[in-house]
Amino acid sequence: MWSASKDTAGRRVAEWLGSLVALLTGLILVVALIFTRTFAPASAGIGDPYYPEAGGSGYDALSYVVDVTYDPGTAVLSGSTWVSLMTTQPLDVVHLDLMLAVSEVEVGGAKAGFTQRGSDLAVPLVTIAGLPANRAGEVVNILVAYSGSLAGLKFRDGFDPVYWNGAETLISGEPLSASAWFPSNDHPSDPATYDITVGVPTGVEAISVGTLLGHGADPAHPGEDTWHWRTATPAPTYATMLAVGQYDVETVPVQLDGVERTAVYAVSEAVAARTQAMDWLKESGAAVTALERHLGRYPLNALGGVVPGFTLEWAGMETLGRPVYDRDAVGKDNVLFHELAHQWLGDTVTLRQWHDIFINEAMASYLEWMSVAEAGGATPQQNFDHLYATSKGAFWSLRLSDPGTRDLFTRVYDRGPMVVHALRVRMGEDAFSRFLADWAGQSGPRSLDDWRVAAEKASPVDVRPLLAAWLDGTSKVPSTTENGFS
Ligand SMILES: [Zn+2]
Repeated sequence: MWSASKDTAGRRVAEWLGSLVALLTGLILVVALIFTRTFAPASAGIGDPYYPEAGGSGYDALSYVVDVTYDPGTAVLSGSTWVSLMTTQPLDVVHLDLMLAVSEVEVGGAKAGFTQRGSDLAVPLVTIAGLPANRAGEVVNILVAYSGSLAGLKFRDGFDPVYWNGAETLISGEPLSASAWFPSNDHPSDPATYDITVGVPTGVEAISVGTLLGHGADPAHPGEDTWHWRTATPAPTYATMLAVGQYDVETVPVQLDGVERTAVYAVSEAVAARTQAMDWLKESGAAVTALERHLGRYPLNALGGVVPGFTLEWAGMETLGRPVYDRDAVGKDNVLFHELAHQWLGDTVTLRQWHDIFINEAMASYLEWMSVAEAGGATPQQNFDHLYATSKGAFWSLRLSDPGTRDLFTRVYDRGPMVVHALRVRMGEDAFSRFLADWAGQSGPRSLDDWRVAAEKASPVDVRPLLAAWLDGTSKVPSTTENGFS
């Protein structure tokens, strides 16, 4: 009786366990099927048609805490960066961009695997039975330790952001630059904040973006000075910068939005006209005040400027709160206005994709035209008339709404502001003022299509034919009232 009933009970338990296992297996299969149907694997590259390898998909970078040491004598940079991100989908792998060699990776404080292929750093997240462990909306903290030489890094399309001459170093440029010195989602559609600590040999200056929190000897590392910088508002990765070398550094009190802040200006000792360069940089405060009349409150809590001791491939670069200027640009107020206008237009209202470059460069160039006129220079109408009368050929045949990588930074600086001027003439002063302030008052990624919609909404007359002719056309725009000619 006992044994019989025991046998029966045993069989029942075994049958019940068998059914349970079958049920669970079925459930796992169903969950896995649902999951694999809705789960799109993360890709190396955020999906930019112009720069397919740039960035990574499936997440939103929140902040980068960069802590590196750098010797401008050898060009060797080493250290670590904490990348804090939020997943935007179930995520199995985080793809970051970094051109230096990685030695170790931690995810959430635990050692993790990684692979590096070209500039792509792939960090698998812990998975259970092949399923992504992270759902959308989860914060993931990744620590990357790395080192390497900045000399000889190979960037594509001739846009090399690294300048080094054995004594001084500058990392600044677009479309890519951050991945030369810290792991990042190196694409403008994913703005984030930056906390940057750089250790350099004693007596060397390390200038970066945002507010200078402190600098001085590092007791833990004899022979080293550390410089600590921090930004407060999210900005694209290409708006970061590192300048290391012998620099004159001056701090100047400046009023930003009624609050007294400290502007930090830096001029390389290799610049011949150092005093002139420093005096010119100090005009930044007045330039910001002039721009605020059109764009609204200055969006940052940091201000400054840097003139390195290199001949750069560009006149200025809108690095966050502290643009970098070529030494030949010193004294050219239009460059100062242009880069400071970018603090709103490009650094705060950022690009969705690189083919949207018009909303950065045409707008900053037009603010440059307006500000120069207000300072007594040529008027926007004079610039417009001159360009219309003298330009031919490739000036008109390039499609501004899709310029391609080769012409990403060409016609957008002259035909670009012409479009904005035509729009201003067509929509009228009041509508244009509101349009400018409203557009500049946003933050985060925007597309050229967003800009068109904003212009159409702001205008009392239909500007769609004007925008089509100027942005999508590939021949000289006819001088009609409808196209914004006065
Ligand atoms: Zn620009």
